Amino acid sequence: MDGLALRGDADRAEDSYRAGDGLRIDDITARARYHKGFDSHERVVRAVDREAGLDAIVAIHDRSLGPAIGGCRMWPYEDEAAALTDVLRLSRGMTFKCALAGVPLGGGKAVILGDSRSGKSESLFRAFGRAVDALAGHYVSGEDVGVTVDDMNLAAAETDHILGSGDRGGDPAPWTARGVFAGIEAALAHRLGRRSVAGATVAVQGLGHVGYRLCRRLAEAGARLVVADISPDAARRAAADFGAAVVEPDAIYDAEADVFAPCALGAAIDDDTLARLRCAVVAGSANNQLAEPRHGEGLRARNVLYAPDYAINAGGLIALALHRLPGGFSTPRAEQATAAIGDTLAGIFARAGREGAAPSRIADEMAAERIARAAGRCPIV
Ligand code: NAD
Repeated sequence: MDGLALRGDADRAEDSYRAGDGLRIDDITARARYHKGFDSHERVVRAVDREAGLDAIVAIHDRSLGPAIGGCRMWPYEDEAAALTDVLRLSRGMTFKCALAGVPLGGGKAVILGDSRSGKSESLFRAFGRAVDALAGHYVSGEDVGVTVDDMNLAAAETDHILGSGDRGGDPAPWTARGVFAGIEAALAHRLGRRSVAGATVAVQGLGHVGYRLCRRLAEAGARLVVADISPDAARRAAADFGAAVVEPDAIYDAEADVFAPCALGAAIDDDTLARLRCAVVAGSANNQLAEPRHGEGLRARNVLYAPDYAINAGGLIALALHRLPGGFSTPRAEQATAAIGDTLAGIFARAGREGAAPSRIADEMAAERIARAAGRCPIV
């Protein structure tokens, strides 16, 4: 059935998506509703183009604030349920991230079921681009784990609804690092009354795209660095470039520092690491830093100020979003907008203090309040 290829939800014809050329888009919202991570997603679709090798799920969580934005991840999921778990969790997270960042965008995400080392092709990403295009601007994609700017350039040949490809934003990491730096400044001011990072010690875990750039900013501002990476080369480079003290990957949790900045993978804060931390602040770029929500309370109980991950790591998103806003992107504008992450965090910390609550909970509440205020407003498409 070429042409109108959305199946399964005839009662929502206003959102019908068109596809063709062997690309089939099935609405699987009804099926996804039974998944524990569903959380009132607006729509979930599966896009398949067998000839092109595409099998993807796109989740659109909430468009109260604007079109749903979220990167595309390529991963060899075991089955549809595993892919759904990931895409639903990530798209919901994007709704909250956009709301707190103050950008007029909602939350969405795509996952391609496949191995990024062996399963990539031009036809696959062009088919993905056609699938995004068929979603009529309701979803805006970009790169994520397993997907590069080059891949997104292929998709962008088929649709305008891609951000982060070569001529639409490029690598967001420098702006993410800029925002994390502003967040560290705000956290140090709130927790230790410090007016700058000069003289503070920051323990940085992970020296990749964001972590390395964060180290550069911190070193330039006069901070002392303790660093760790599972790649010895990455650690040596930070030692040579910034005079950082290098510790073994697992020892970074025990480092005596003002700030612990997780910039590697998720779940850096769990029962074990929480008990070992010797810092006043946790503030870094990694997504999903808390192994479980209760670890946000755990940090508060230990008098460690936590900068909620999706608030502090929104710099890349904010810079990309400027490309879609009136006035467009400019470096000074991105500089100002990402620096404002410090103000957002200061607001979260102040309210957390007033209410005697963990900043992680306050961030969720503030995001939910913004979404609720906007709900019912016509989404910007
Ligand atoms: P990256 O892959 O470039 O860097 C990650 C680094 O962490 C690598 O150098 C890796 O060797 C290291 N690492 C992995 N496991 C480690 C461990 N156990 N201990 C120490 N080092 C370890 O990724 P990135 O783009 O720099 O992103 C870092 C984190 O920030 C990720 O969690 C990512 O999801 C998040 N994030 C990134 C952006 C962005 O703009 N790139 C935006 C928002 C959030």
